[in-house]
Amino acid sequence: MRLVRRSLVICLTLAAARSAAAQGGPITIVAGRVLDGRGGSLKNATVVVDRGRILRIEPRPVERPTFSFPNGTLLPGLIDAHVHLGAYVNRNGRMHTADDGETAAQSALAGAANAHRTLLAGFTTVASIGGAEDLDLRDAIGRGEIPGPRVLTSLDPITDAGLTPEQLRGEVRRRVAAGANLIKIFASRSIRDGGAQTLSDAQLSAACGEARAAGVFAVVHAHSPESIRAATLAGCHQIEHGVFATTEVLALMASRGTYFDPQCALIFRNYLDNRKWFQGLGNFTEEGFAAMERAIPLAVAVIRNAVATPGLKLVFGTDAVAGAHGRNAEDLVCRVRQAGQRPMDALVSATRTTAEALGLSRETGTLAAGLAADLIVVSGNPLDDITALQRVVFVMRAGQVHRHDPTLAGNRTLQ
Ligand SMILES: [Zn+2]
Repeated sequence: MRLVRRSLVICLTLAAARSAAAQGGPITIVAGRVLDGRGGSLKNATVVVDRGRILRIEPRPVERPTFSFPNGTLLPGLIDAHVHLGAYVNRNGRMHTADDGETAAQSALAGAANAHRTLLAGFTTVASIGGAEDLDLRDAIGRGEIPGPRVLTSLDPITDAGLTPEQLRGEVRRRVAAGANLIKIFASRSIRDGGAQTLSDAQLSAACGEARAAGVFAVVHAHSPESIRAATLAGCHQIEHGVFATTEVLALMASRGTYFDPQCALIFRNYLDNRKWFQGLGNFTEEGFAAMERAIPLAVAVIRNAVATPGLKLVFGTDAVAGAHGRNAEDLVCRVRQAGQRPMDALVSATRTTAEALGLSRETGTLAAGLAADLIVVSGNPLDDITALQRVVFVMRAGQVHRHDPTLAGNRTLQ
């Protein structure tokens, strides 16, 4: 019954939004607090949306808004720079692998479900880095055929340390020609295998240089300080993970303008709490799980250190795999509660800075006239209680409402 009522409310409110749009009138959203993604905050303000774009922000509530959230906080849609939408648990209760007997349709549907789950959790843009299957998913969402966040994809990652610099350049070009938005390169081993550097300085220079020449960003998996230093000096755009990053390499990244995308806890917790899905696959051994247990306090300490590094551009990425899609905001809670990042800084990181890192500043990541109407409303104030980010009540992407739950926390809809 509750579901029926909720669906009815959603239908009615979506109808209100559609009719506002159909009549050519803008959609108005009033919230008790509006955060602009650049560190600014307004009380009782209105965001005006027209034809999928933000028209303006008014510093007062308008009369008869399309949507009203007096107890809610409106902010730009969140961005996750590191997910794996194609990663899911198969019908046998195991992490999906290429040879587990799942049909292409089952895998495609699982990817679509992960995308939808991520969108409903308030993430309106993601970079899915590490799967060729993300291309069709990106394009289906882009055409408006299925609901999901804006997706950027790297297609398959470059992992083969045996390739020559020239072969690596070829691998980069092949991905760009196939439609990759960015290039994912492994410069170190997995955290489960110790994280030591795998690609040489010359290989990294070739791969990241080719990506830059082709106008796409190279994001580099690197754990050890040596691999982070090498990737940074090679001019690679962004470093992923960095569990063993030292104060020295954090300062080097800051001085070179290299973006840093560390994970706080979700990735490790998800593997450890759901061992049965992963155990026995590849490096998911007893030693591998033990390495992840040891990584948790290190990861938190690295973020604490990164936050204290002047000028370091900290983006937000969770490395969400099977079981973690839709839980992305947990890592923002970890950043604030465990790693001591200021709530406003954590929010700016997951909106403006990550949009900038992905080359999307002119499209999303802040509330500004002309940008895509990618916005969410959460119940409560995340500046006081960061877990408010886990209580998403409204999701709009490019002007289209995907979630509206007016029953939470006294939010109401005026029609
Ligand atoms: Zn990953």
